[in-house]
Amino acid sequence: MLHWARHITRGARQRLDALLASSSTDGEMQWGVMSRVGALLEGARAAAGWNHRPQLLVLCYHRVCDVENDPNRLSVSPERFAAHLECLRGRFTPLLLSESVARLARGDLPPRAVALTFDDGYADNVAVAYPLLQRHAVPATIFVATHWIDSAEEFYWDEVERIFLRPGTLPRHLTLDSPTGPRSWDLGHAAVYSAAEWRTDRDWNVQRHSAPTPRHRAFSEVMALLSVLDGKRRGETLRRLREWAGVAPTGRETHRPLRRGEIAALAGDGLTEVGAHSVSHVRLAALSAADQAAEVAGSKAAIEAIIGRPVTSFAYPFGGMAYDNGAVEAVRAAGYRVACTTTPALATRRNSPLKTPRFLVRDWEAGEFAQRVEQWWERRW
Ligand SMILES: [Zn+2]
Repeated sequence: MLHWARHITRGARQRLDALLASSSTDGEMQWGVMSRVGALLEGARAAAGWNHRPQLLVLCYHRVCDVENDPNRLSVSPERFAAHLECLRGRFTPLLLSESVARLARGDLPPRAVALTFDDGYADNVAVAYPLLQRHAVPATIFVATHWIDSAEEFYWDEVERIFLRPGTLPRHLTLDSPTGPRSWDLGHAAVYSAAEWRTDRDWNVQRHSAPTPRHRAFSEVMALLSVLDGKRRGETLRRLREWAGVAPTGRETHRPLRRGEIAALAGDGLTEVGAHSVSHVRLAALSAADQAAEVAGSKAAIEAIIGRPVTSFAYPFGGMAYDNGAVEAVRAAGYRVACTTTPALATRRNSPLKTPRFLVRDWEAGEFAQRVEQWWERRW
């Protein structure tokens, strides 16, 4: 039971011995004594600054902004994000991801270590999240999908949202090529979509089971189709979609990806660091070894050319299930030291740094966020 007792301070050890001596000797220690022992050890560990259970909480954000609708649930409002940071500052020890993973491996991670990450590379990471990170002195790592750097286009999931879920009129019928042959959609009455209907449906997100209109069903199905295509075929399909819908490729300022200067600025101070998130945000497990290497090494080289220093952190696109051993090997071969999944777990020394788990954070108010991070930390989820 007390295999860790050798680590506690001498005074605490003496008090522990006294407690144990006062308990019954027939092996049935009373629960009250057990909790007093637990509390005593917790105090001793805190006094010694010793983290008996080396574990790291890594959080995954995407955007910090107020958006009109958020079907992919990527945004946290600035007010709520500030509350998250205040909570983390008060209860945890925020560290840069690269530093925290290195210290986990070395065995000198401080107690209750947390690392923040942002996926994709949205401009609001600089404009909105960065000042809040600075105010609360919380470091963060920004993972950038490099195809969109300086691009006038939106990330493809935002463009598909703009095409299908904004009010307006679309042609009723759509046909797209897919790996299993042509697929067709009929938008029916929802080909014409009013602002009033849009307001009614704006809280819908992809985790809801039912689609309020055929537009929402088409949105989900076209998203699923695009997510299995490689970058080239996805680009062709998006061009076809734009022609069908009669929309320009130029995206909304509110959904803009990061620019080169912003990436250089994020990498230039100690508070934030920039990592790679592939070139074209594809499911690496679906690619050949050569294409995996191009996505993994290509995004590293693109960011290094901007920031003028090595990029050592990577986040697998689509997180949890979209990478395989080949992708992990490509990441290792490219020279990354840390790679993040979205498998919801704490990072420990048992997991490879190239499979660092993370918890996705949603737009939770302060109380719910605090409750969730405590549950994650105590492994009660
Ligand atoms: Zn992503």
